[in-house]
Amino acid sequence: MAILLNSTSDLTARQELALWAHERLCAEYGAPFPFFSTKDPLSELISALLSHRTRNQDSHRAYQQLRARFPTWDEVRDAPTAEVEEAISPCTWPEQKAPRLQQVLHQVSQRCNGGPCDLAFLAEIPIKEARAWLEAIPGVGPKTSAAVLLFSSLRIPAMPVDSHHHRVAQRLGLIGPKVGEGAAHALLEALLPPGWDAQQVYDHHEAFMFHGQKCCYFHTPACGRCVLLERCPTGQARVKR
Ligand code: SF4
Repeated sequence: MAILLNSTSDLTARQELALWAHERLCAEYGAPFPFFSTKDPLSELISALLSHRTRNQDSHRAYQQLRARFPTWDEVRDAPTAEVEEAISPCTWPEQKAPRLQQVLHQVSQRCNGGPCDLAFLAEIPIKEARAWLEAIPGVGPKTSAAVLLFSSLRIPAMPVDSHHHRVAQRLGLIGPKVGEGAAHALLEALLPPGWDAQQVYDHHEAFMFHGQKCCYFHTPACGRCVLLERCPTGQARVKR
């Protein structure tokens, strides 16, 4: 199936394909999916910054140690950097992440006009502005900004795209073969109905991610048992070989 990526009719076709895949994958993996996090948005952001290129169990331990040592984010901001570095030692590059965390907390403080560090204000501004504010922080890209808004207690409908989600979308033809993960965010979000709530956006992301983890593997996708095969150009080409 030839897919043109620029015309309006092609956009409509991809929107329809995205919704079809959403229905199939949500049925396959049992949506609605419960949210896994109840963190406030600032805690979610700090957790995301710690997790960069770090195994989940190590970043979790770093986060827990940081929280145990400094009960508030204001205390992390004002602590000697060496102590923050020691608290987050289980994650990768604590010597870089400790000053970065403190920088971020200083920026948040400025936005809060000297009050306690908090990102609750993000709920009061348009999503686009909230994402831009987060993405102005060094090290925060579209995946992290969306994750902070969606996964945290804010539950704002912004969609993160991880490597599994990206791979499935690309093979299915929702995005072009050269579109990277960063650029995929805006393109894939544009395929979702504008009125979708946080649960629907979360289900979409989770269903695509589960599919990448459980069927559309990086090396050898299991196209023969895939619920998207009938409309997937990559799968069709693979099963005809
Ligand atoms: S048919 Fe194959 S390539 Fe296409 S989504 Fe399914 S597993 Fe992935």
